[in-house]
Order: sequence, then structure tokens, then C-alpha cells
Amino acid sequence: RESWASDSSDSVISSGSDSDSNLYKVILLGEHGVGKTSLARIFGGVEDCSDAEEAGERGEWAAKDDSQWLQNHCMKMGDAYIIVYSVTDKVSFEKASELRIQLRRARQTEDIPIILVGNKSDLVRSREVSVDEGRACAVVFDCKFIETSAALHHNVKDLFEGIIRQIRLRKDSKED
Ligand code: GDP
Repeated sequence: RESWASDSSDSVISSGSDSDSNLYKVILLGEHGVGKTSLARIFGGVEDCSDAEEAGERGEWAAKDDSQWLQNHCMKMGDAYIIVYSVTDKVSFEKASELRIQLRRARQTEDIPIILVGNKSDLVRSREVSVDEGRACAVVFDCKFIETSAALHHNVKDLFEGIIRQIRLRKDSKED
């Protein structure tokens, strides 16, 4: 079961797994227009629409109320984070670093899964951020990196499988 929502500069997406007791919250963060909603739609939005809408509304509110809501809620409630930028938008790439810093501040001691995502890889001609720059950034962030195209559904499945795998790995290692 999965539910996804995304509608503002910083979005909340919940990803369900097999059962309610095993529900993971995956939060998509990133500048407006980078493709969070598009990525999320590929993986859900069919079930649990009410949740999705509610999260969308809250997301909108967050956009209006600066990053305070983001700091206080989103950055504390996720089991995992996907930080998205658009490879066609350098500013969104810079914003991704900012978000990583905010996240580190909010969750200092915790080892939470984070994946850095360069979306819109299909827009070859308007690319402003190279694959190498994305990779280098992920090394600094100490997180995984993947380029996706929500438009072509390229690598999107890998992205979501990757994040779920990371959540499970960390849960398992805690239980041992
Ligand atoms: P959000 O504000 O981060 O949720 O971004 P949206 O998902 O609403 O996407 C913003 C715009 O970018 C929309 O017009 C999408 O159709 C478009 N878009 C999103 N992902 C891609 C992609 O991978 N490739 C291309 N070409 N366009 C995309």
C-alpha cells in the first residue's frame, strides 16, 4: 500500500509497505518544479487519496510559511528522504545542498536513509548539472545518488526500490 502527495516547494510523500504496522514514510524534498509530484505519481496516488490530499494541503502551507513547518515536521517524521533537484536547474541543485544541511541539523544523531535524485535526465539539451556534479555532491552528502526521468519513467522503480531497501537494511541492523 502506498500513498503519495506532493504539491509545493517541499513535499511530503508517504510510502506504504506490506502492512500498516510496517508503513514507511518517505519524504520527497526539493525546489518547486523539480518533479516530486511526477515521481510520486508513478508510484501511487491510487489508494489512500485522502491522505495524499491532506499531505498536499499541508505541503502548500509549508511553501507559504517558509521552512519552519519543514523543519518542525517533515524533517522529523520521515523514515527516509529523497532530495530531488532538476538536472536542468542549477538553482534547484544548490537548494538540495541546503536541504541536506537542514536535514542533518534536524536529525543529528540518526542514521536515516537519504537518496539524492537528479530528475529530468531526459532533457538532454537543457542540462545544467552534470552526472559527475551530482555524484560528487552525493559523496559530500554521504548518501546514494541516482538520475531519473519521471517523464520517461527511467530509473524511478530503482529509486523507490533503493529507498525501501535502505530502510529495511537499517531496521534489520537495529534489531540485531
Ligand atoms: P514538483 O513541483 O516538484 O512537484 O514538480 P512536478 O512534478 O509538478 O513537475 C513540474 C513540471 O516538470 C511538470 O510540468 C512536469 O511534467 C515536469 N517534469 C517532471 N519530471 C519530469 C521529467 O523527468 N522530465 C521532463 N521532461 N519533465 C518533467
